[in-house]
Amino acid sequence: MQAKESEGRLDAASYINAGEMTSLFADQALIPGGWRQAVRLTIRDGRITGIETGAAPHPGDERHAVVVPAMPNLHSHAFQRAMAGLAERRHTGNDTFWSWRELMYRLALSMNPDQVRAVAAQAYIEMLEAGFSRVGEFHYLHHDVDGRPYAEIAEMANAVSAAAAHTGLGMTLLPVFYAHSAFGGKPPNEGQRRFINSVDSYAQLLDGCRRAVKPLGTGVVGVAPHSLRAVTPEELAGVVALAPNTPIHIHIAEQMREVEDCVAWSGQRPIAWLLDHAPVDERWCLVHATHMTEAETTRTAASRAVVGICPITEANLGDGVFNAPTFTAAGGRFGVGSDSNVQIGAADELRLLEYSQRLARQGRNVMAPPGGSTGRALYDQALRGGARALGAEFTGLAAGGPADIVSLNTGHAAFAGAKDDALLDAWIFNAGNGGVDCVWVNGVKQVEGGRHRARGDVSQAFFKVMKQLAA
Ligand SMILES: [Zn+2]
Repeated sequence: MQAKESEGRLDAASYINAGEMTSLFADQALIPGGWRQAVRLTIRDGRITGIETGAAPHPGDERHAVVVPAMPNLHSHAFQRAMAGLAERRHTGNDTFWSWRELMYRLALSMNPDQVRAVAAQAYIEMLEAGFSRVGEFHYLHHDVDGRPYAEIAEMANAVSAAAAHTGLGMTLLPVFYAHSAFGGKPPNEGQRRFINSVDSYAQLLDGCRRAVKPLGTGVVGVAPHSLRAVTPEELAGVVALAPNTPIHIHIAEQMREVEDCVAWSGQRPIAWLLDHAPVDERWCLVHATHMTEAETTRTAASRAVVGICPITEANLGDGVFNAPTFTAAGGRFGVGSDSNVQIGAADELRLLEYSQRLARQGRNVMAPPGGSTGRALYDQALRGGARALGAEFTGLAAGGPADIVSLNTGHAAFAGAKDDALLDAWIFNAGNGGVDCVWVNGVKQVEGGRHRARGDVSQAFFKVMKQLAA
């Protein structure tokens, strides 16, 4: 594996802008105080070292029309990119999340580490081209096809980390603890054999994950008890205790069957159970939280946990609609995730988040404050919530902060005549991924003209793997 690992890792200079100074000049920039004109940013060692507003451009500055902070993607299963668009054929009876899961298990059981690396790299360049700068990789495909751990227990974590290194995407790796098929500690089923660990083997895996992200420089490792159905209360406590100061992510209340099974097991709904039995605070990210009562919604907001909303996947899987107005009115924090990666777009996730609310409530501009821009409200909240959930710094475009930046493709017709918050409205509600021009992560430009620098090679490898998987 040595050769493959080094092939997948860039030297530090190409992953973090090290040593040399870069300077950007933007006609408009969204900085922590709001929109400013004529903004000059200087960048060194992956960070913004200086920011001037109302500035004059210097010779040698790279010129852009509009720059904004890049968006965190707080929830992904990279390997599922290999089934995007391939589970849209109706089977017998009613297709549901659970019948989709059978197809997903078949894919999960067939992939080797090289294939996972190639598929993850494709997903990651698509994330970067969509304006995302960091992914929360909720990583549960751990073991060999027969369910036995690889000689290196973190072999698959090495594969996804190598994909992050190769593409330059920031990564918060969230190795998943998975032990049971249903509430009450039911034994795992055959289709889950590559996911399973004891708390002891999970601790080893966690160490392996910490080694895996080291070469990324800015990598973060958290923990991820898969869901309340996959862990017992004792295991949940054991896993949380392994990582006292890191992000803790869990899938919760995504499907009504899960809610009903939880009530049958404990007498409580999943969110109520979790809030009563686990130390939920701002380290936590509750992924989906689709099915909550009003009381659960306000309690979740008060816990300061971030909710990870994945609007495209939730629509694709028929999960339901998150109660965003009640949650945000109670001060709740959220970010967005591309989850199954069936379609990847920062603007697309935010647009569907708003549109699902409009459809459910027969109203418009549901997520905006009175008199405010919907795009700006969605963007600001998802930036902050996403960074918090991923254990990443959030400073916006400010001196001392990470140089994770998107420039908008203002040549796109969506932006004609737009300025300030209307630029975000135009990106989110009209341009989609076509609104992205360049993306910098840690001060390194990974995307230019909407295209990732390694798109050719990565796509070629992805096509090859898709052919193998279809064979
Ligand atoms: Zn998920």
